Amino acid sequence: MSVRCVDETGVDLYAFDLSPEAWQALIEQNRKCRSLRMPCCSAEVNLRRSHRGTPHFVHKVVGDCTTAPETEAHLRLKRIAVEVARQHGWDAKTEVAGASPAGETWIADVLARKNNARVAIEIQWSSQTSGETMRRQERYRQSGIRCLWLLKQPGFPMTEALPAAQIVEDDGTYFARVACSQEMPVEVLLDAIFGRRFRFGIPSQGRAVAHIRVGEIECWKRQCRVKTKIVTGVDVVFGPHTNSFSVPQLGEYPALFDEVFSRLPQDSKMGRLKKRFSKTQERQYMSNGCRRCDSIIGEYFEIEARHSDEIVSSFPIQITPDWKQAIEEEMGDQSEWAIYSPSDLGM
Ligand SMILES: [Zn+2]
Ligand SMILES: [Zn+2]
Repeated sequence: MSVRCVDETGVDLYAFDLSPEAWQALIEQNRKCRSLRMPCCSAEVNLRRSHRGTPHFVHKVVGDCTTAPETEAHLRLKRIAVEVARQHGWDAKTEVAGASPAGETWIADVLARKNNARVAIEIQWSSQTSGETMRRQERYRQSGIRCLWLLKQPGFPMTEALPAAQIVEDDGTYFARVACSQEMPVEVLLDAIFGRRFRFGIPSQGRAVAHIRVGEIECWKRQCRVKTKIVTGVDVVFGPHTNSFSVPQLGEYPALFDEVFSRLPQDSKMGRLKKRFSKTQERQYMSNGCRRCDSIIGEYFEIEARHSDEIVSSFPIQITPDWKQAIEEEMGDQSEWAIYSPSDLGM
């Protein structure tokens, strides 16, 4: 099974480019002239449809050709990759052979070109060790090609060097699963790939939305006990990520702190946000305070007040290097590949 064959003039024919009428006409023509050839070994070709109706080419006689027959998934996913790449103005072909500078050969399932850029798409339906995936990826890198992997098996390495998604089939539709629990039709993933919206970690520019949350507690000082409102946190939503900052956390970034809290609505029931010394922690940090006695209200109370909190202000922010750093610190060591929308990236 192949999505492509070669005609008598050496031109590639893709089964998915042909209308049902053109497909039927090609069957008639090939029956008479026998001019179509397999791309792998130049054997004669028969035109077929899979049990799901996908048109494709097969060897007329299975001779010595060692090229493994393709699965339905290969036929369908190659078609999707070629079509989406073309929509983005790339020139895309299937089963393109090449070699690295060291002379190691490869055959890309799909190779797309635009000016000097080359992007390969590998559809991996059989299981493959992570070591083998990374070895093949390195071979593409040395050849100046960025390669995306569409893998059936989960458990591949989460690294910037390996843009990848797990593909699952559901009733004839192929879905891509990427990090952050994103799942979408594979067309949507490929649209993001060729639209440069599939990114690793936190992009260094873009637009996010910040939400300030406020809740209420009773002052812990026995002689005060007044009800006071405090900031319980700031949520920053950037693409697929939501990161929550406490007041002390955001206080570590004075510019970001000022940017956010200039948007905090005035409220007489609210204590002041400022640096206070904590005896428990034996250090000074940005904190909530009691509206009457100005006692420090530490992070523990912020967490407690989250049961009753609500968003009091939402506004857009630009992802600056400071924001990128703050979000990455909050996320810890969890960078992954994810899809961003055009507006996330300010496109
Ligand atoms: Zn062959
Ligand atoms: Zn108080």
